Order: sequence, then C-alpha cells, then structure tokens
Amino acid sequence: MTYQLTVGVEVHVELETKTKMFCGCLNEPFGSRPNILVCPVCYGLPGALPLLNKEAIAMVVRFGRAIHATIPTETFWERKSYFYPDLPKGYQLSQSVAPLVQGGVIVIDGAEHHLHHAHLEEDAGKLMHAPDKTHSLVNFNRAGVPLLEIVTEPDFHSAESVKRFCQELQRIMRSLKISSADMEKGQMRCEANISVSKSGELGTKVEVKNINSFRGVRKAIQYEFERQTQALEAGETIIAETRTWNDPESKTVAMRSKETSADYRYFPEPDLPIVRIEDGVGGGHLLPEDQRRELVALGIKNELVQPVIDKGYFDLLKGVQALKPEMVAEAAKTLITFSGPTDVETLIQFIELKAENGWTNETAKEVLAQAETKGLVEASASFMSTLDLEPIVKTVIDENSKPVADYKSGKTAAFQALVGQVMAKTQGRANIQKVREELERQLND
Ligand SMILES: [Zn+2]
Repeated sequence: MTYQLTVGVEVHVELETKTKMFCGCLNEPFGSRPNILVCPVCYGLPGALPLLNKEAIAMVVRFGRAIHATIPTETFWERKSYFYPDLPKGYQLSQSVAPLVQGGVIVIDGAEHHLHHAHLEEDAGKLMHAPDKTHSLVNFNRAGVPLLEIVTEPDFHSAESVKRFCQELQRIMRSLKISSADMEKGQMRCEANISVSKSGELGTKVEVKNINSFRGVRKAIQYEFERQTQALEAGETIIAETRTWNDPESKTVAMRSKETSADYRYFPEPDLPIVRIEDGVGGGHLLPEDQRRELVALGIKNELVQPVIDKGYFDLLKGVQALKPEMVAEAAKTLITFSGPTDVETLIQFIELKAENGWTNETAKEVLAQAETKGLVEASASFMSTLDLEPIVKTVIDENSKPVADYKSGKTAAFQALVGQVMAKTQGRANIQKVREELERQLND
C-alpha cells in the first residue's frame, strides 16, 4: 500500500471593511504611515471599550449563505489569550464556541470541498525586524483589522487540489466583495495541516504556516508529503508540530510544538454584546461556480467564462441575456477585449454600432476611448461623419481592375474584397452599409 496524503486548510482573509473590527480607525493597513491608524482600542489601553463592526458581520454572513453553511442565530466573542509583541492587549478577540459560519461546501468542477467552520477575529499588528537583528519595530495599523478564518475538513488528498481550492476562495472573496484576497499583500494567508499515513487512518498532523503564494501552497504540501514519507520509511515517528515554509529555499522548517486550545484560556468578552442574526438575511449571492454554470448555459465560450467572472462582468452579461445568442457572445468578447462599456445600455448600443458599421478592433477601441468624454453615440457619429466616400470608392475601383472585372463578370465574391479595400483605406471610419451602397452605385454606373 502506498502512502496517502491528507490535508486540511486554514485560510485567513482580511475583510475590506471601511473601519476596523472593534473601533472607528480606518481599515487601510497598506500604504499608510506606520502607527497612524490607531486608537486606545487598537492599543488595548485600560478602560478602552470595543465597538462591533456590523459591516464585517454582514460580509461573513454573506459568505456563509453563499456556501450553504449553517448560520447560527446567535454568536458571541471570546478572548483568546496569548502574549506576543504585535498584540498589545494580550488577547485576541475571536470566536471558538459559536463561529458565524458552520459547515458549508465549495464545489470546484464538480468536486465538493467541505468547510468545518469559518469565524471572525481581529488581525494583529506587524513586526519588522532590523536586518542586523539588533532590534524590531512594530506597526499597529493592522491591529484590529477584521479577519475571517476559514477552516476546511481534512478532505484534500493532493497538493494541486489545495492550491485550486485557495484560488477559488480568492475568486469567491472577490465576487462577494469581501476582500481582494491578494496573497502577496498578506490579505489572504494559507496554512496547511498535513498528515501522511499508510494505514488508511489519519497520520500525525503537522501544521505549515507562512505560505504566501498559490505556488507556495502546492510546493509546501508536496515538500511535507515527501519529508514525512521518507521519515516513515526510515521508521521515524512524525512529531505534531508547527513548521514554517521557507520559500527561497523551498523547504519547511520546524517552528515550535503546537499549543492546545487550553493554552489560550478562552473566555467570553464582557465588553461586547451577543450578536443576533436574522433568518435569511445576507442570502441570494452567487458563487463563481454558479456563475460559471450560468455563463456556460448562456453559450459563452469556455475560454471567456473565467475571465468574465474574474473581471467582474457577470452581472453586466446577465443584463444582456435577452439578446440573440450571437449578440451575447459578442458582448462577452467585447467586455474582455475592451474592458467596457460598463453599463448594460451602452454595451448593447456598442455591439449594435460595431456590427452595423463593421468596425475593426482598432476602430472600436478608438470610439470607446472617445466615448468616455462625449458619450458613445456622439463618439461614433463624429468618428464616422468626417468622410466623403465617393472619391475613396472611385480610387479603389481605379486601383483594383482585376476584382472589378471579376465582379462585373458575375463573381460576387469579388465584391467583398472591394468592400475590404475601402474599409482599409478609411481605417474603419466608414459605415460598412454605406460603403456597399456607394460601391454598387459606382460599379453599376
Ligand atoms: Zn482603533
């Protein structure tokens, strides 16, 4: 029997709320000067009282409903006590007994991935260590930023499937407008609980932290699988521990033996109220998987489906679904090629004008650029009106005696070549219907 890999994932996502989780400080940890987005609550000064951020709760409920999780009618906050220099309060506010999201499932290409739960907590500050290791600096701008911790069941059996799950989670966070979930910025951080076993039962769990890219997710799990397999082969015992992923050296390194939850001495936060969640509130949002299915049903080409979702054009495309299928397909192509237009009405107008006038991509791009200042109809009109077709058509007829002769002898295909010549000469600025009319008029003169 071969060794089986089993992985459960913990993902932390910073919510993009306007303010922090328990105070009015702005939630903008990136790009701000250190230690300016702070207040007595962030610093945990004695007597400072926390205030709950409703927007963060709403985001998490939205996520929970979308993945068909159980949302409790009540939840409360607990203090998770530990000491670390980036945590001035000496405890982190979290939820261990009544997480906001319980269960839930994320489907990727038909494969189900089950969540154990997801709960809200607050982020800590950020430590920066001097290169010469003489001192460290701490920035509390991030302290108190709402953080969603998502914990899956241990139901992954390959490194690749975990990587794909994390990528899908990023898409979900983006499409539900919860977070940009950018791993490079630390807005999304993954940890993997990895065990290897031969017996079919779960092996000893090793936790790997500090994975900062999707590529890192796959490599770290693959590395651990190989390390643990080799250790077992050599008759060694796997130690339950926390390891860190060293990306430059592509290996995991032991950090510390794992705390148990008793070490954290959880107890209810006395300064925050119990949160009650109304039945059904926050529902009705589609996951990327549902969006993919709907777009495929609309006849959108496979290679355009994911880009349409990733760029946030799903609602716009649903807005034109009553049009003919080829127009819907054209709309998808337009959105991906030109990154616009941004409302349903203009999108429809644009597709119609493009078809009617026979615009090339370059022409369409130019019209759209002009439309930003003067509106689409005017941009199109001013782009198309500056031409006198008669001399241009005459020149094309004079320069193309062969196709002209072909056309006159009854080869209708030659006509299209002449139309193309005129369009090329006008750099697409002519209305294709008018070109046809003028050509016919002069050829039959
Ligand atoms: Zn604050």
